[in-house]
Amino acid sequence: MGKKTHLKFEQTLAIVKPDGVQRSLVGEIIKRFEQVGLKLVAVKMLVPTTDHVEQHYTLDPNWRRVTGEKTIKGYKAKGMTPPSEDPLEITAKILANLKKYMTSGPVVAMVWQGAHAVGIVRKLVGGTEPLTSDVGTIRGDYVLDSYQMSDTDNRAVRNLIHASGSVEEANMEIKHWFSGKEVTAYKLFQEQVTYDVNLDGILE
Ligand code: ADP
Ligand code: MG
Repeated sequence: MGKKTHLKFEQTLAIVKPDGVQRSLVGEIIKRFEQVGLKLVAVKMLVPTTDHVEQHYTLDPNWRRVTGEKTIKGYKAKGMTPPSEDPLEITAKILANLKKYMTSGPVVAMVWQGAHAVGIVRKLVGGTEPLTSDVGTIRGDYVLDSYQMSDTDNRAVRNLIHASGSVEEANMEIKHWFSGKEVTAYKLFQEQVTYDVNLDGILE
């Protein structure tokens, strides 16, 4: 297997959203990703522009449809009527509110690397809606928002953090937020324990 194709080189983008920064959860979030064994290879704080946020969410041409469908399903699972049966109509509103949310203050954008980085980070982050995201996840443990709440107040659901949904999404998103120079390739010595095949360097 070529060096950079090994699974341990998989990367994902995570962004602590403005509410996560305001709640002083940057350290807690970083701690969880560090503790699972992932490696931080890029990090910066910035206030994103509206255009940057819109481009971020529309990098995946399917995002509008998938997000609308997911929202409709969420309503129906709770026995509620969705605001519209048209996924694209729902997403247009979500996107407008997301732009306000994500540009309201500083965010912390990060790239994490390691085997199954995308899936591992999504697991630790939890489902989109904090009301239903699992206990033990970041969105399940530190915030209590819901679609019902965000609809009532006509705003985006506040869920502390963004995480790429797939490897393809991650690759596009990392390029969107970081230049190649801002991502550092380096060795973390503890990685030997995670990845070395024989674990034969421990005893003196
Ligand atoms: P995720 O962040 O879990 O990948 P999506 O990509 O579907 O979720 O949506 C992006 C973000 O848009 C969510 O994290 C959330 O902040 C907001 N959002 C998604 N769906 C809704 C909704 N139905 N109502 C309000 N905000 C939403
Ligand atoms: Mg998403």
